[in-house]
Order: sequence, then C-alpha cells, then structure tokens
Amino acid sequence: MKFDVAIAGGGTGGVPAAVAAARSGARTVLLERYGFLGGMATAGLVNPYMGWHAGEKALTAGIFAEIIDGLRSMGGLHENGHTFDEEILKLVLDRLVCEAGVTVLFHSTFVGCRCSEGIIESASFVSKGGPFDVEADCFVDATGDADLATTAGAEIQVGRNEDGLCQPMTLCFRVAGIKAAKDLAHVQRTLNAIYLAAKADGRLKNPRENILLFPTMRPDVLHFNTTRVTGLSPLSAGELSEAEFEGRRQAWQLVELFCAEAPGFEEAWLEKSAMLIGVRESRRVMGAYLLEADDILSARKFADAVAASRYPIDIHNPSGEGTVLKGVPEGDWYEIPYRCILPLGIGNLLMASRAISATHEAHASLRVMPVVSGIGQAAGTAAAIACRQKVAPADIDPAELKDALSAAGAFVGAEG
Ligand SMILES: Cc1cc2nc3c(=O)[nH]c(=O)nc-3n(C[C@H](O)[C@H](O)[C@H](O)COP(=O)(O)OP(=O)(O)OC[C@H]3O[C@@H](n4cnc5c(N)ncnc54)[C@H](O)[C@@H]3O)c2cc1C
Repeated sequence: MKFDVAIAGGGTGGVPAAVAAARSGARTVLLERYGFLGGMATAGLVNPYMGWHAGEKALTAGIFAEIIDGLRSMGGLHENGHTFDEEILKLVLDRLVCEAGVTVLFHSTFVGCRCSEGIIESASFVSKGGPFDVEADCFVDATGDADLATTAGAEIQVGRNEDGLCQPMTLCFRVAGIKAAKDLAHVQRTLNAIYLAAKADGRLKNPRENILLFPTMRPDVLHFNTTRVTGLSPLSAGELSEAEFEGRRQAWQLVELFCAEAPGFEEAWLEKSAMLIGVRESRRVMGAYLLEADDILSARKFADAVAASRYPIDIHNPSGEGTVLKGVPEGDWYEIPYRCILPLGIGNLLMASRAISATHEAHASLRVMPVVSGIGQAAGTAAAIACRQKVAPADIDPAELKDALSAAGAFVGAEG
C-alpha cells in the first residue's frame, strides 16, 4: 500500500490531520486501532471541549469548528456549547473523513517501522488478517503517545523532570437516574461534602481533592472526571492494567457512596465507564522548538505559529492531591510554532497530537482537545504541502502553511 500521507491514530489530532491532508490533495490513509474515530473524546469519554476562546475570538476554528457545527446540527451539542454527545461525534467524524476522501483502516494497530537515514520508509500495522506495511512520503504520528515517533528513533521525554512521573490517569464515568441533576452547583456542593467527609474518616483514599463533574446531554445523567490514579506508567502494560483495575474500583466506590448518601441519587446507577482509562500525559517528542511554561504565561506569539490557545497550565498532581492552575493573561493567548510538531532527526514525520515538543508544564496547557485538533489540522496541511513540493516538512515555507491554514478557516495567530 503506498500513499502520500499516512496517519497513525484516528483521535483528536488524527482526524483533522487526515481531513486536512486529503482536502489539500494528498492521497491519505488513516489507521486506527479501534473501530471508530475520536480517541479520548469517544473511547475515553472525555468531555467537554475546553479552552478555545479569547473573549469572542475562536482560537481554534477550521475543522474543529466544522466538528462543532456537525454536532450542533445533529443535536449532539449541549446548550452550553462545550458538552457533546460522543455517539453523535463518532458519526460526525465518519462523515468528515469519508467526504474528504480519506482511506480509513480501522482495527489497525501501529507496531513498528522501517527507517533509513532518518526517513521512515514504511510503517507496520497489525489487524485481524495479520501484519501489513504502509508506505508513504510523509507520516503523521497521531497516536497520542508518540508510538510512531519513538519507534522511528525520535528523542523523547516522559513526565516531569524531577522523577519522570506523568499527570495522573482518570477513568471517566457517567451516572444516570439522578433526580435534580440540572441544579449542577447544588449537586456539586452536596457530593463534595459527602466526598470530603468520607476522605476525612478514611472510607475513601482517592488522591483527588474534590469532585469534578459536568452536565451531559441528558437531564438525569452527570459526567464524572473524579477518579485519580497516580504513580503508574501509561506506557507499561502491567502498570496500565493496574490503573484500569484501580480506576474501576474508585468509580464503583464513588457511585455506591453517592447512591447511599446523596439526595436525588437513591435510584441512580453507574451507566457506563470509558472503554479505557484516560491518559493525560505520556511521551513528548523533542522538536526544533521546545514550548515552555513561560511561553504560555507570557502569551508568546511566533512568526511560524500554527495553533493558539489560552487554556491554563493545568497540572493534576502526578503524585497525590492537588491541581496546579496557572493562567494566560486575561483576553490574550499564546501560540504554538510549527517547529514544535516536527520531531528532530526524522525527515518525513509530523506530530498531530498532545505529544508535541513541549515541557511537562507547557504540555499541561496545550493538551486540551480543541488545541490538539488545531495542531492536527496544521500537521495534515503541512504534510500535504511537503508531498506536493517533494520537500521535507521542515523545508516548507511556514508563511505558505499559514496562508493555507487561514484559507481553510483556521486561526493561526496574531500575524495570520
Ligand atoms: C481524564 C482526562 C480528562 C480530560 N479532560 C479534558 C477536558 O475536559 N476537555 C478537553 O478539551 N480535554 C481534556 N483532556 C485532554 C484531551 O482529551 C487529550 O489530551 C486529547 O484528546 C489528546 O488528543 P490526541 O489526538 O493526542 O490523542 P487521542 O485523542 O487519545 O487519540 C489517539 C488515537 O490514536 C489511537 N492509537 C493509539 N495508539 C495507536 C496505535 N499504536 N496504532 C493505531 N492507533 C493508535 C487511539 O485509539 C486514538 O484514537 C482530558 C484528558 C484526559 C485523559
């Protein structure tokens, strides 16, 4: 199989990358390990979309705006504009990739690659039929964990500097059958009081400091982002398995506690948990520019910007209680340069995920879904330009990339 652009991973960054590459004229293949698209937003039950506005200005537009429009037109977007229905999202994403002409291969897990002199010649995937290879001029790593970049030999970092620990993992879950779930602030206060009392008397040992919940599309259902699993590696099968056991144990314990003690929860039940525990952070590749905390806190702009955000640095404590939040100056935003999505030393690879070149702190801001979506659109567009011009992605003109992104409706920063 030979394509212009091959993308491993059909999640938050991978779908916009594939759509952008195909719309830009590249023969594009998207390979995803599951049987549907969306990554954390669907498989991980992560909700809502966070942090893509500075006042009225949308800092992520383009394909992400089309996703929002698609959700809205199919009744899959909450009146708050951020909460969405993950089943409708799957369909919206199917339509986007099909209409763009992307070849999609589900149930295809990336397992290895063949490289020569810093160029990826082919990537290997495993499906039910056995292993198969995909050749392409440009590859895009959208696995979230930089699986392809790491296998190809990119320099990577994992977790925070002092001990390599990553942000905690969280199994998201939904509770249905709640009475008066619409009065969210009241429910939040009630559940928090019950939660903190159970922690204080030793019945609960969860490291998370409070209850984090969100509305859903259904009036009797709430979304919980409250389990916290610390100190385990999201890159080890053994530790990931421990994390899945622990996330599920915490979810059931919380639901049993609320059903026993919270008014309105008498007939509630754990309706579903995500099909995998949510991984906030794992590997990050090193690129020609390393985005740092100061870039975010000083709202830094870049001539080669390809995405923008004002979501704060949001670090859930990797080793226990507490969450650190550090904001971008009011009304302003920071930008992400193209150099952050180009792994050093691999000539034909781009990143379309949270695993771009950034420190642990900077990653804690750019990791939210709208921003990763913008990064994905930039990666796919750049890959298509590089293929068309028969040059390395690092050698395309960043101004031409910005023009292409702007023409496609994306916001690419102050100078865009
Ligand atoms: C618990 C939790 C809560 C969060 N809360 C929010 C929130 O409220 N709002 C917000 O905006 N963001 C939130 N985030 C952040 C956000 O969900 C992620 O950072 C973002 O989705 C990452 O996008 P991605 O494309 O890098 O990875 P993903 O969306 O995970 O996509 C990766 C895709 O690659 C596939 N894949 C992985 N490995 C392979 C392989 N080897 N072969 C083939 N396919 C593969 C996966 O199946 C998946 O489809 C949260 C994250 C977590 C974990």
